[in-house]
Amino acid sequence: MSFEPTRPIPYGRQNITETDVAAVTAALHADYLTQGPTVAEFEKQFAAYIGSKYAVAVSNGTAALHLCALALNVQPGQRVITTPLTFSASANCVRYCGGEVHFADIDPATGLIDLQKVRALLEAHPKGYFTGLIPVDFAGLAVNLEHARQLADEFDLWIIEDACHAPGGFFTDSQGQEQRCGNGNFADLAIFSFHPVKHIATGEGGMITTNSEQLFHHLLRLRTHGITRDPADLQREPDGGWYMEMQELGYNYRLPDFNCALGLSQLTRADEGLARRRQLAARYDAAFAQVPGVTVLAPGAPGHAYHLYVIQVAQRRELYDFLKTKQIFAQVHYIPVHRMPYYESLGWREGDFPLAETYYAHCLSIPMFPTLTDEEQDYVVACVKEFLRVEF
Ligand SMILES: *Cc1c(COP(=O)(O)O)cnc(C)c1O
Repeated sequence: MSFEPTRPIPYGRQNITETDVAAVTAALHADYLTQGPTVAEFEKQFAAYIGSKYAVAVSNGTAALHLCALALNVQPGQRVITTPLTFSASANCVRYCGGEVHFADIDPATGLIDLQKVRALLEAHPKGYFTGLIPVDFAGLAVNLEHARQLADEFDLWIIEDACHAPGGFFTDSQGQEQRCGNGNFADLAIFSFHPVKHIATGEGGMITTNSEQLFHHLLRLRTHGITRDPADLQREPDGGWYMEMQELGYNYRLPDFNCALGLSQLTRADEGLARRRQLAARYDAAFAQVPGVTVLAPGAPGHAYHLYVIQVAQRRELYDFLKTKQIFAQVHYIPVHRMPYYESLGWREGDFPLAETYYAHCLSIPMFPTLTDEEQDYVVACVKEFLRVEF
């Protein structure tokens, strides 16, 4: 192997161009650092990209989840179902509102929540026992939300789609139509993150998308302390031009204008980045197809947005360490949420969701980001093969 990496190769990284830098610089010279016009512009462009009617920019993906749970009025004791195979934030938003988190195990072929298991869970309890469902487009593979919606309608659930991994991803519905992640056709609300490892980076940042005008207006108010200035919404007669009302308990979950300027600039390259991710995935799929000992999660799935590229191997811990010595910083997504000490303190145990646990024992996310070069990728593949002692 002649190629030596000149920089460490992480599992994911942002792509900041000079155009992005110029966009942020211009935003810093503008009149508003926060609460200015760039926020609404970013929301408008993002909604257009995703295909939703409305979008609300917020300070991060976790804040997006929290506001969704508030807007859907999650109450103490209410039960919500999500997947154990996700970042803890997908579940935590229920806890912020005092709700109870329940899980349904994954389909090991896709890593997605198994909707058959969700159905079994729902059917095992009286209607009304559960109030919501939070499916996650894990690794960038879209959950079939048409099926999830049928289930939700049958059992009176709302749906928050955690689409952090999947801007630009889609599934094909029963009519043969491509349904983009977060487009609001099936889920009540969807959320995205603009953390640097995600497709679109704003430093920290997040977005909620929806097709519900009512939820949209409520989210705008919750994002800013529960305050409104809209004359149509006021409960009392204004006593001056300064007048505003805090009508409910909200938060400051705003995203500053210069972050939005970065997001807008990044958004113009979103399709390009997605195309490169899919190209890299196809190259990995081809490279690992003949390698015994490597299982690829959902190879060649159409509509996959490839936030992550996940392989499964017997000796995951050793491979992780080996790659590190080669300057390759792989990552594990995820330690199942129910195995976190906090969730164990709420009563969940090892063995509760065996498929997610088995997946966790073997999974490794290897480098996947648009600026990964072919040469670097070939090096990653060669190192995995070297570890497995496969001739090449
Ligand atoms: C990144 C991520 C979040 C949280 O987003 P932040 O912007 O980091 O708060 C939530 N859910 C999933 C699946 C994520 O990947």
